[in-house]
Amino acid sequence: MYLVADINVEICAAKSCKLCTQYCPEANTILYSDEMGKDKGFKYGSAYVAVDRCKGCAQCVWVCDNMAKNNAIKMIMIDQLPKAALTENVAYGEKSTTAVLASPVVG
Ligand code: SF4
Ligand code: SF4
Repeated sequence: MYLVADINVEICAAKSCKLCTQYCPEANTILYSDEMGKDKGFKYGSAYVAVDRCKGCAQCVWVCDNMAKNNAIKMIMIDQLPKAALTENVAYGEKSTTAVLASPVVG
């Protein structure tokens, strides 16, 4: 088991700053969904993590805590992700880099 980043959608969607998406050193790992959080009444979407690509460096945690001051990201053991976070696993279409929700890797 290993640590991955887990974004609290309710905190992130209330801010929607997108700052962390500029600092992750792994390509296509922190992504942004305009739809995520709308079911909870938020308008502008949330960042989310492609947990199968996350290398566990925690740089995003530092950015969210210290630069954005939003404290929305925690590192969590991949087998302990809350059920809701399993939707953060993504797959890529054959001719597209657009993230789509896919079946979870764990759970
Ligand atoms: S820095 Fe934090 S609040 Fe801003 S988009 Fe990333 S997870 Fe959300
Ligand atoms: S822990 Fe590192 S690799 Fe994983 S999402 Fe955050 S910045 Fe990217």
